Amino acid sequence: MNFAQLSLIPCILKGVEAVGYTTPTAIQEQAIPVILDGRDVLGLAQTGTGKTAAFALPIMQILSLGNRGGIRSLIIAPTRELAEQITQMFGDLGPGTNIGVVPVYGGVSKARQVAAIRRGPDVVVACPGRLLDLINDRSIDLSRVEILVLDEADNMCDMGFLPDIRRILEYIPTRRQTLFFSATMPEDIRVLSKSILNDPVNIQVDVIAPAKTVSHALYPVPFKLKKQLLLAMLQRIATGRVLIFTRTKHRTRRLALDLKNQKYRVAALQGNMAQNARQNALDGFRSGKFDLLVATDIAARGIDVSGISHVINFDMPNTVDAYTHRIGRTGRAEHTGEALTLTTSEDEGLVRSIEKVLGARIERRRLPDFDYGAPETATPNQDIRLNGTHNTQGRQPRIQARPTSGTRRRPSQRRRR
Ligand code: AMP
Repeated sequence: MNFAQLSLIPCILKGVEAVGYTTPTAIQEQAIPVILDGRDVLGLAQTGTGKTAAFALPIMQILSLGNRGGIRSLIIAPTRELAEQITQMFGDLGPGTNIGVVPVYGGVSKARQVAAIRRGPDVVVACPGRLLDLINDRSIDLSRVEILVLDEADNMCDMGFLPDIRRILEYIPTRRQTLFFSATMPEDIRVLSKSILNDPVNIQVDVIAPAKTVSHALYPVPFKLKKQLLLAMLQRIATGRVLIFTRTKHRTRRLALDLKNQKYRVAALQGNMAQNARQNALDGFRSGKFDLLVATDIAARGIDVSGISHVINFDMPNTVDAYTHRIGRTGRAEHTGEALTLTTSEDEGLVRSIEKVLGARIERRRLPDFDYGAPETATPNQDIRLNGTHNTQGRQPRIQARPTSGTRRRPSQRRRR
């Protein structure tokens, strides 16, 4: 299944392409056609499933095909972070449209938000408190709203926004399409959804839990020290065959090159490679010619290599499903494997979602003796740092040269040429 098969029009597909999504997530596959059909939706889905794009894409399509004028879609979200994320998602997906989106939340200048609303956005993404404030001031007119979205309804309820939401609903036309998303469905949420949805289509996506044979650990690190930390991990953790994931083709290429420069036996696997180059990388990884394979999610989909001791997420994946797929490459059958994930402060939301699915907190680890305070000033260029031409103390990197030939070495020693 690809996005074009979901009846999305070219200007919307342009946005999908711009953000680099190739395959719709489960909720996108189910929700997009239903929303385009004008139906109400009751979506039971967590963050990390791709639910924002699942409603943003069809909303943009409906709005770009209809008559312009007034706020035609209102999205209500519990926190300003979520409101910003949703706004950002519309921005990222919307370059092919000229749909205007304005976020509305408290704690920042009201005058500026009022001015932005006067400029006539098509979509407003709002937190309940400030929205009600603007309604009371008569600074916002919701009488043209055609599509209403309630996102993270359970969180809104937990935060005590239910009365606010009921009041806001009084200002929105009753003839509208309503999309209601919640990660859980306690009784009060069910009652609320029943009262505002009209013959909804129920959509439920379960996030697949990662295999129990895999142990998980997070390695929090400042973004700029990621490559240094990875190198230190590869030196100090006894690993066998290691699959390393990055977020983009470029980062895969770059990281594989950097590791190669460090004399690791490494191959890259990413979508821009010719089929035979991909095959060589995979065959080499399988046969033991390469100890490390650096890959993107798409390229690694379905690869079946036994004996992968570690999956290292050099970049956090985008979704919980992607995390599950990635680490499904280790810990196959009865073997145990380790999933080690480098995380930066930006990854916190997804970490929480993954922990929810696992039903447990993931252990945070610090690599002993790694200099987490390594000043970026002394090492201005990540790639130079990685290439080991210098480090903070001006010492040579700790990497030991290993013999190139001779008897077969233990897995933990095999990775260096
Ligand atoms: P959400 O559940 O909406 O918070 O989305 C979680 C993450 O998934 C965001 O970083 C999105 O950019 C990403 N995402 C959404 N849809 C897709 C897709 N089809 N392919 C890859 N990543 C996606």
